[in-house]
Amino acid sequence: MSLRFNALNNINKGKETNVPASAKITAVFGENVFTLQKARAFLSDEAYKSLIASVKGNKKIDRTVANQIAAGMRQWAETKGVTHYTHWFQPLTGTTAEKHDSFFTLKGDGTAIEEFDGAALIQQEPDASSFPSGGIRATFEARGYTAWDPSSPAFIMEIGQGKTLCIPTIFVSYTGATLDYKAPLLKSLEALNKHAVEVANYFDKNVSRVSATLGWEQEYFLIDEEMFNSRPDLVLSGRTVFGHASAKGQQLEDHYFGAIPERIYAYMRDFENESYKLGIPLRTRHNEVAPAQFECAPIFEEVSVAVDHNTLLMDVMNRVARRHKLRVLLHEKPFAGINGSGKHNNWSMSTDTGVNLLAPGKTPKTNLMFLAFFVNTIKAVHDYSDLLRACIASAGNDHRLGANEAPPAIISVFVGQYLSNVLGEIKERVGDKFDEQDEAILKLDLHRSIPELLLDNTDRNRTSPFAFTGNKFEFRAVGSSANCANAMTVLNSIMAETLKTFKKDVDALIEKGDKKEIAIMHVIREYIVASDKVLFEGDGYSEEWANEAAKRGLPNVKTTPLALDAMVTDKAKHLYESNDVLTHVELEARHEIELEKYIKHVQIEARIMGELCTSHVLPAAIKYQNMLINNIRGLKEIGLKESNYANQLQILEKISEHINILSDLVEKMIEARKVCNAMDNTRTKAIAYESQVKAPFFDAIRYRVDKLELLVDDSNWPLPKYREMLFIR
Ligand code: ADP
Ligand code: MG
Repeated sequence: MSLRFNALNNINKGKETNVPASAKITAVFGENVFTLQKARAFLSDEAYKSLIASVKGNKKIDRTVANQIAAGMRQWAETKGVTHYTHWFQPLTGTTAEKHDSFFTLKGDGTAIEEFDGAALIQQEPDASSFPSGGIRATFEARGYTAWDPSSPAFIMEIGQGKTLCIPTIFVSYTGATLDYKAPLLKSLEALNKHAVEVANYFDKNVSRVSATLGWEQEYFLIDEEMFNSRPDLVLSGRTVFGHASAKGQQLEDHYFGAIPERIYAYMRDFENESYKLGIPLRTRHNEVAPAQFECAPIFEEVSVAVDHNTLLMDVMNRVARRHKLRVLLHEKPFAGINGSGKHNNWSMSTDTGVNLLAPGKTPKTNLMFLAFFVNTIKAVHDYSDLLRACIASAGNDHRLGANEAPPAIISVFVGQYLSNVLGEIKERVGDKFDEQDEAILKLDLHRSIPELLLDNTDRNRTSPFAFTGNKFEFRAVGSSANCANAMTVLNSIMAETLKTFKKDVDALIEKGDKKEIAIMHVIREYIVASDKVLFEGDGYSEEWANEAAKRGLPNVKTTPLALDAMVTDKAKHLYESNDVLTHVELEARHEIELEKYIKHVQIEARIMGELCTSHVLPAAIKYQNMLINNIRGLKEIGLKESNYANQLQILEKISEHINILSDLVEKMIEARKVCNAMDNTRTKAIAYESQVKAPFFDAIRYRVDKLELLVDDSNWPLPKYREMLFIR
């Protein structure tokens, strides 16, 4: 029996819907997290104070205190049955990494004890040679180490009966070069803090810390495990490289927000329960637009914690899915012809005085503060749109961006009608002779025209890659499988840089004698004018926008290898180096790593395509071709007129044509791959993989395979079909 029919027979067998009723969420929330509150019970006053200081202010912890904290962590973990610990980190592979060690150790005299000391908490040396480093380690030093990041709390990961204490860490080479997503993120948060506080102090002297906040929305597909296992392309590349569209797709729009199927519902409750224990504040669950597509979203948190929680969640979702004989697909475009998946990053900044800097204020003064941060964000996106484009670039996201259902590769900002008018008004009103009376009028007008509850008054635009949604910006072009840290590092850094310049510009006017508020208004106006062309309120999916954007001179880079160029321009190097986020060496390494990832993904897809054609599709097509030949021959032999088997002849002709062209294309693609593989320069090779392998062959091959799928006898078709993967559950 073919894999496909075996899968169809077994689908739904042993399906798990029996998830215990959830306790009250508050009763389990954070149960497996070493929160400050829990730490209190296990630490001395000195150790506790020191932990708090390092959590809040990134202060270093000395070794003796570290010993106490480690001992406290172990005691807490042991009350929960934990035997092992690991440094948990986020290498540039895009997944998480861990290496478990037990607390168990033998002392010199052979006594067995359980121990976890400060040194083991603070630093570990995983065998780093197999993580991507973009050549950094090869050039300098082969070793790398992980270092404890106290800003993110330790937690216990439960896998079956096994429990492991996970210490969030950053991953660096021995020379100190960062090799992960987390370290530059933390540095970008520091840069943003510094410059955002300076600007916030124009309005409120009490602000002493600004942190960025992130609420991600995670889209995903779920399919039956049997189906998954019979699609080698899904198993190896995360997406179906072939598959004819199902007769029913998403056109009836009956899935979005529809009733959640029972089996899926059980899965959701199960992974949510696991997430609550880990302190991931999930809040929302619903069906998404495409069949078998779903979404979940948490309550927003400080960026670094939110990033950890998203990576952790992806891991939890994967593991829990297996319990339910399901597979979760986090790929950006697992199925052609229906929507792909994104990960909307809702981003804002908030002060230690409890103010959301992107929420309109209650008074004219706080409204001016809002306006300053709002306009600075637009300016940042305008000035560095190429970096935002680069940070979402991946082989997977290339299938989604601009694919009629996802934001285009053109970065623009949507602000809604209210704020569009406000910006327009400022542009008109603030002239050269702008005086205090104008200021008063404008402030009042602004105050009147910015409703306090903008949240409910902002029109929504689902087609914009970067949309203001009332009290935050939503970066919608991030891929569903991406680590949010990448996008967040860019946003924080470009915002830090823009605010830094803003402060300089305002101070210069004040120096010249302008009153503070007037100086601020002038610079705000200047920034609105300067970043005008990035604002777009219309349909981002439309052809007209692509044309209009081209006229405005906005970049529209459609492929990853070229989009990544923005990472290593002089402008980018200056931005990251002057804000102490990444050195140019680290940037170049990251650029190299992203290019390599791209090459490998396209290479794997090309290989699996070739393999599926030669050993699955073509044999099935040839078998059916033979059946037709025998049929025609038989009809002819018994003396029927040709008009009686004209249809069979026609089908045979079509099939034969597809078979010929298909096997020819596969041969040529293999040749093209060989040419690319021989290239030395990574960038050239990535570009070639796109333009010589992917572009000319992927769609052309798929077209033939999908035609054959419709022609060949269903009982001979080896691969689960779209309707089977998407609609049976
Ligand atoms: P929608 O985008 O469907 O309107 P919501 O407005 O409820 O949904 O929010 C989407 C996400 O934005 C949620 O994860 C929410 O926690 C997050 N969010 C809300 N306010 C902020 C904020 N100030 N900073 C960052 N994220 C936020
Ligand atoms: Mg949203």
